[in-house]
Amino acid sequence: MRARVFIGLGANLGDAAATLRAALDALAAQPELIGVRGSSLYRTPAWGREDQPDFINAVATCTTTLAPAALLARLLDIERGFGRERSADARWGPRTLDLDLLLYGDASITLPELTVPHPYLHARAFVLVPLLELEPDAVIPGVGSAAAALARVDRGGIEALR
Ligand code: ADP
Ligand code: MG
Repeated sequence: MRARVFIGLGANLGDAAATLRAALDALAAQPELIGVRGSSLYRTPAWGREDQPDFINAVATCTTTLAPAALLARLLDIERGFGRERSADARWGPRTLDLDLLLYGDASITLPELTVPHPYLHARAFVLVPLLELEPDAVIPGVGSAAAALARVDRGGIEALR
């Protein structure tokens, strides 16, 4: 079985853009993830508290031979590999990378540890914008076209890095 999947990447600590580029390379290095393509990186300015770093988001797509739960486990492994940095006092610092399984073919999946489509995909412009860059005709099972979903949400402040 081979499914086309979309994976969301996000970071807002440290050099978030470098983390996302390295995370895209890590995805591409997995033998069961075939033909990995990444979107542009997008900056979403933090709002509310101005002392927070910007969020950087991207989406990757590929085909995979991994079943959904196995793919999620792989993503969480990669997250763990990247996701923590030592702070000055040598304690483990906060997570620096978030990997979410957004879409797995046209499947709707409800497992204790996995919900696909990702429950907030349709509501988050910072995921919909890079998703649509990769796949303008993307469809979210149970929701409808991703483009229509983006039209219903506020996409202010999201800009591609250059
Ligand atoms: P968030 O991504 O909402 O900021 P976390 O990354 O901390 O939160 O949540 C991780 C947990 O969410 C995972 O342990 C996983 O079991 C669960 N989860 C459920 N559905 C998904 C999904 N589609 N993609 C990624 N994680 C998911
Ligand atoms: Mg997550």
